Amino acid sequence: PTVVNRIAAGEIIHRPANALKELIENSLDAGATQIQVVAKEGGLKLLQIQDNGHGIKKDDLAIVCERFTTSKLKKFEDLSKIATYGFRGEALASISHVAHVSITTKTKDSKCAFRGTYADGKLIPPRSGQSADPKPCAGNDGTLITAEDLFYNVPTRKKALRSPSDEYNRIVDVVSRYAIHNSGVSFSCKRQGSLSADVQTTTTATIIDNLRQIHGSSVSSELLCSGERSFDSLDFKMNTYISNANYSMKRTTLLLFINNRSVDSQAIKRMIENVYSDLLPKGGHPFVYLSIEIKPENVDVNVHPTKQEVHFLNEEWIVNSIKDVFQELLENANS
Ligand code: ADP
Ligand code: MG
Repeated sequence: PTVVNRIAAGEIIHRPANALKELIENSLDAGATQIQVVAKEGGLKLLQIQDNGHGIKKDDLAIVCERFTTSKLKKFEDLSKIATYGFRGEALASISHVAHVSITTKTKDSKCAFRGTYADGKLIPPRSGQSADPKPCAGNDGTLITAEDLFYNVPTRKKALRSPSDEYNRIVDVVSRYAIHNSGVSFSCKRQGSLSADVQTTTTATIIDNLRQIHGSSVSSELLCSGERSFDSLDFKMNTYISNANYSMKRTTLLLFINNRSVDSQAIKRMIENVYSDLLPKGGHPFVYLSIEIKPENVDVNVHPTKQEVHFLNEEWIVNSIKDVFQELLENANS
């Protein structure tokens, strides 16, 4: 309970893409190498994610959707050393409060899969008269999570959303970001019933392969410069692909990962726009993939979980270090 009280309570799922980001991070935490997403009506009617990760033990199915249930955090001190994505145990609970959720999962050592159906954090009978206990069923190793009728009980939230096609684009954007970053994991994303996927990557593709696959051949390696740097004094590492002066986009694209989590940083975005402002023709914008690994204690984890915005300790120092690397890469590209 202490841990519970110290964590900003009440994560709220704002839109389908929000929910999906949490589900993808859970699949990655579970060691999945295959993640398949299916959506109907922009994820509002149906949002489904299948992974081949380690699965959930049958006994844990009763509690996974309860608030603050997490297998990833033991005590409050762990909060400052979070290595996995999850640490709040709020995502599944929140989703189960605003959608009809079912989980089918199988661990390697179990003979069959089990399915649980949830409402408001608790197992419920899938049909009236049935028991709420997880039912044995057929299934592959891994976890299949289905969220249906998102926001069926929150009409105001539903009204605030854009069109299903706009929500679907956001879903594709989230899947694309994680697909690009996670070489070694294959991702797919499609509309239910569609024969062709809107995102499709393979386990063998590199980050640059994934960039090209998803953003098109225009993001060819000739137009990108790459760099890897370590800054030992702050235990900070970066890996980046950035567009050079011969390549400009209609708007700034920043694919930013901090400790493998897709995040936003206005400080980094502003820095990037500054670095490129003299370089690109008026109206032209850069394309940047940037992955940062940093001691978790140097990342501010107290921002509200639904906010993607991240702050660092020593932010100015870090942002300036990245800026120096970008400038060096761009100078080399132009010489
Ligand atoms: P958190 O990720 O913060 O621990 P979540 O609400 O996202 O909390 O998930 C609750 C728990 O459910 C996780 O800690 C994990 O044990 C289990 N879980 C959720 N999704 C998966 C999955 N795809 N594969 C295996 N376990 C999962
Ligand atoms: Mg999680």
